[in-house]
Amino acid sequence: MSFAKSLVSFLATSALATVGSAAKVTLEKDVVIVGGGASGSHAAFRLREDYDKSILLIEKRELLGGHVSSYDAASGNSYNYGVQSFVDVHGAAEFVSERLGVATAAPGRTSTTTRYLDFTTGEDVAYTAPTSAQLIAALTVYAEICAEYEAKLLPSYWDFWAPDEIPEDLLLNFGDFVEKYDLQALVPTLFKVTGMGLGDVTNVLTLWVMQAFGGPMARSFLGTQSTFVPASGRNQDIYDAFADKLGDDVLYSATVLSTKRSDEGVLLTVQTANNQTVSVKAKRLLLAIEPTESNLAPFNLDEQETAVFDKFSYSAIGVGIVSNPVLPTGYSLTNLPAAASPNDWLVLPDLNFTARFDYMGTEESEDRDYFRLLVIGDGNLGATGVKELAQTNFNTLIKAGAVDTPDSSELEFVAFTEHGPMHARVSADELKAGFVQDLYALQGLRSTWWTGGAWVAQFQTHLWWYNDILISKLIEDM
Ligand SMILES: Cc1cc2nc3c(=O)[nH]c(=O)nc-3n(C[C@H](O)[C@H](O)[C@H](O)COP(=O)(O)OP(=O)(O)OC[C@H]3O[C@@H](n4cnc5c(N)ncnc54)[C@H](O)[C@@H]3O)c2cc1C
Repeated sequence: MSFAKSLVSFLATSALATVGSAAKVTLEKDVVIVGGGASGSHAAFRLREDYDKSILLIEKRELLGGHVSSYDAASGNSYNYGVQSFVDVHGAAEFVSERLGVATAAPGRTSTTTRYLDFTTGEDVAYTAPTSAQLIAALTVYAEICAEYEAKLLPSYWDFWAPDEIPEDLLLNFGDFVEKYDLQALVPTLFKVTGMGLGDVTNVLTLWVMQAFGGPMARSFLGTQSTFVPASGRNQDIYDAFADKLGDDVLYSATVLSTKRSDEGVLLTVQTANNQTVSVKAKRLLLAIEPTESNLAPFNLDEQETAVFDKFSYSAIGVGIVSNPVLPTGYSLTNLPAAASPNDWLVLPDLNFTARFDYMGTEESEDRDYFRLLVIGDGNLGATGVKELAQTNFNTLIKAGAVDTPDSSELEFVAFTEHGPMHARVSADELKAGFVQDLYALQGLRSTWWTGGAWVAQFQTHLWWYNDILISKLIEDM
């Protein structure tokens, strides 16, 4: 164990590391990475294992994995209420099995019957979803269009179009794009699977919708792109494996208090789980967190950085596992405005809304059903807002007689995670004014590099793919 590693380990366990202790320790690393979710854990692993760099990964929570959210019931059963599956792009499945030692398998799904209800009234919505043939026809056309643009959108924007050359199709609102190519039958599936994170996708630029559900997703539905999960069925196993590999090179439950960044390197002051203050000196900083104002507050942004990040707007996702005896076993109660009846596939709920209560399974040991709750809001919808909205909608369903009247109308939260602002996006005008170029011009400034969903697309393995390019650039710069 290196001196630095043993020091971190000592800090985590030492009886001296008591609240308020004034002891100050300095660690020196090649790269310090902040944020141990999809992008940060992978980058830390690759820098350490494949480039032989000394690293420190700083994560604010007590585990790695960010949006993954696997809930382990007392019975030993595990329920994934965040990330559902991993797209096998750029050798991701092989990476998981060979490098992380986690056996993979094809994802399985709990089968449910969809019941459409307008959650604002509790009334059933008579709705006919597209047939499989209609969906496949639309997906086929969509996948072809995505493929045309894919090289400039995945895995990074380093080859993005010049501002005045961005294809007009990508700057259309997705509703107009759908009309143009007659893709209406695609919309319900695209929205249900990942698009809903953007709200009503018909009013969002096609570029951002394509990043939330693009070629790889379309191909996965067409059966030409595989997806995987850990064979255990517990998605957190992937990030527990990263944690095992990274060992003492991770500081958990740690907070960056302040930062000094220059062309010569960075100095971070970090508060550890034990309220110790640690100084971390590193040649490079890699930020793997959403670049929101509050997340970036300790990083001493300059005007150039602030001017770029201020342009982003976000939506927020809250997910949990809820239970109440009257939620119907085997059903997905799905929110749809009444105006969607009988088959207007472009009518969707908009922010803020509860998307669904999806039956996940019956936890026999507790004699109750678990339902996955999905709530989408604007970037300001916090945990309380998510829970209140879900409860309000559930009350409406009870009042309208859509579900039986329970003894207690309280939605019990078995598990909950606030996924905070995500799906960073800007307007067409900003894109035409060179936003992407301005964003990527920040890479490497003052020894700071950036990864995460805001830099390309909100998918686990797409970010690993992006990292592979980013890391080679970061290494060249060292
Ligand atoms: C409900 C849900 C379901 C999803 N399902 C899928 C799916 O099935 N398949 C798929 O590929 N993608 C899915 N995604 C998207 C995918 O998970 C994200 O694209 C991906 O996690 C983004 O990675 P990231 O590294 O940018 O952020 P994250 O994975 O969120 O990681 C950020 C990490 O930084 C930490 N952090 C934040 N601020 C700080 C700070 N100041 N200091 C230290 N640490 C900090 C956080 O705790 C977190 O661990 C889903 C997302 C959500 C919300």
